[in-house]
Amino acid sequence: MSETNAPTPAQKTALAPDVRRLDERAARAWTERMAVRPLGDGRYAVDSQSGATYVVDLTERSCTCPDNQIRHNRCKHIRRVGIEITTRRVPAPGKRAASCDACGIETFVPEDDDEPHLCAACRLENGDVVRDREADDRLVVVRVTPERADEVLIEGVGETVADYPTNADYPADDLVAEVVYLSDLTRSASPRRYSFPLSRLERVDDAEIVDRDLREQVPAATQE
Ligand SMILES: [Zn+2]
Ligand SMILES: [Zn+2]
Repeated sequence: MSETNAPTPAQKTALAPDVRRLDERAARAWTERMAVRPLGDGRYAVDSQSGATYVVDLTERSCTCPDNQIRHNRCKHIRRVGIEITTRRVPAPGKRAASCDACGIETFVPEDDDEPHLCAACRLENGDVVRDREADDRLVVVRVTPERADEVLIEGVGETVADYPTNADYPADDLVAEVVYLSDLTRSASPRRYSFPLSRLERVDDAEIVDRDLREQVPAATQE
């Protein structure tokens, strides 16, 4: 291995704090066997090593254990909930666990969100430039709908998005994304929208090639 590939000091990282240097509560929060279960509304049940279960309320910064209730300490249970959120073992207040509707990986989504749940890798935003995996065209995302490919009829064709021949390789329950062709944007003030199965689209990093003006034009151009 060449010396030039050696990590810089800034790239080296510890995976846990040095518990020998922590005060006792902080060290126990890291090392004791506990289980944290999200209850919603910023509350978490903590099953402690001793067998007792306490409820931590992060918005109130309180815990039902004696250390917090009687001695008013920021107890090991409150600290443990914080650690588990930071390490993404449990969702932060206001979030809940859900499977990504596109790839199935577990992700954290807003607690009261009816939108499709997409992980960071699958999420497409209005204005994102994507590549059509079949035709290699560049498209601009107008909207990711909550509808499935086998539920959406293509106007003028009479087939669902799932049944459309070039979509045969994509799942029938894929979410449908509405897109416009990047090339149409330069030619028309109201380019035609097309419906694609989400997994047929791949986000591309050459978004910067698109004029800022062009991107801002997308929402206005597609209002109906
Ligand atoms: Zn506690
Ligand atoms: Zn995903």
